[in-house]
Amino acid sequence: MCGNTAFIYNDELLKYQFGSEHPYQPIRFRLVMDTLLEMGVFDHLLRPLRSELATEEDLREVHTEQLINIVKEMSQIGTGCLDMGDTPVCEGLFEGALAAVGATVTGAECIARGEFDHAMTPGGGLHHAHPDKAAGFNIFNDLAIAARRLQRNYGYERIAIIDIDGHHGDGTQSIFYDEKILTISLHRYGPGFYPGTGAVTDMGEGEGKGYSINVPLPRCTPDEVYVPTYEKVVSAALEAYRPEIIIHQFGTDAHYTDHMVGMGLTTRTYEKVAEITHHLAHDHCDGRYLVTGGGGYSADASRRIWSLVVCTVSGSFPLNPEGMHLLRDSGLNRKWKVQQEEFHKRLDYLFDEVIPLIK
Ligand SMILES: [Zn+2]
Repeated sequence: MCGNTAFIYNDELLKYQFGSEHPYQPIRFRLVMDTLLEMGVFDHLLRPLRSELATEEDLREVHTEQLINIVKEMSQIGTGCLDMGDTPVCEGLFEGALAAVGATVTGAECIARGEFDHAMTPGGGLHHAHPDKAAGFNIFNDLAIAARRLQRNYGYERIAIIDIDGHHGDGTQSIFYDEKILTISLHRYGPGFYPGTGAVTDMGEGEGKGYSINVPLPRCTPDEVYVPTYEKVVSAALEAYRPEIIIHQFGTDAHYTDHMVGMGLTTRTYEKVAEITHHLAHDHCDGRYLVTGGGGYSADASRRIWSLVVCTVSGSFPLNPEGMHLLRDSGLNRKWKVQQEEFHKRLDYLFDEVIPLIK
């Protein structure tokens, strides 16, 4: 199975930052580019592509004029805070946000135009952004803006957005809650855990009922539980939905070394998830598969995971096999110490009550 892959990058992405002490660090994007260059994996199957910046018009597809103006003004002064202090504004943040959205839109465009089958950018994946408010380090929702571009310019009707960030993709879900755009989110869920939404019973409403799929996971969920759950849920939902493209928010913060989330995944899960989804893209939508970044508060884990994903999806591996080995975890993941019974009940609910609604 093959296809052409674009790795989308632009140094402007580094402007998407909240200060040197903030957990969200855009240096991760540069580190992936450097790693891919060092491994020598760019070839005829995998090519680097410089992303365009998004325009204010792109933002208006999803966001209110008021939010756009507030971010623009605060970014010019380089001070202030969005989202009750979580998301401070540094000078140039607006331009950084345009770069983040632009990277994802560039990926969607190059796939829709048939220039590439797959595209990956480590930027974007800003799934907490709502139409009228920035939240959780996320200013503008690049995933939703890219989906709107595909609907408007290319007539796409069936777009699947899969989100594996450790946190629920609440902004993306809310934007499409009453539409037949399929959103699937696997995330840690429980009392007090951000953002608090994403119960299995959140399934969409009106026209969109059954098109919001949520897989709430307990703390410390390990590879052995995550991978079969992912495969089962995503395969069944995509089989029913028959997407024209898959957009994949590939946040890395459910990795076991990431202290913001406290899940138990290793690089084994991320490689497997990329492999499964890549296959599903070839099965259902001629390989059209766009991968973005997302959360990830260990820069090294993010660098390794996203580099592995680019190799897995493109089929471009370093000549020296040691190169892949260096990206993988050697340690064991955390112990699974939750009530599995409760978790299986949630999964049964999904298969009995939600997925059958997809037409
Ligand atoms: Zn996250």
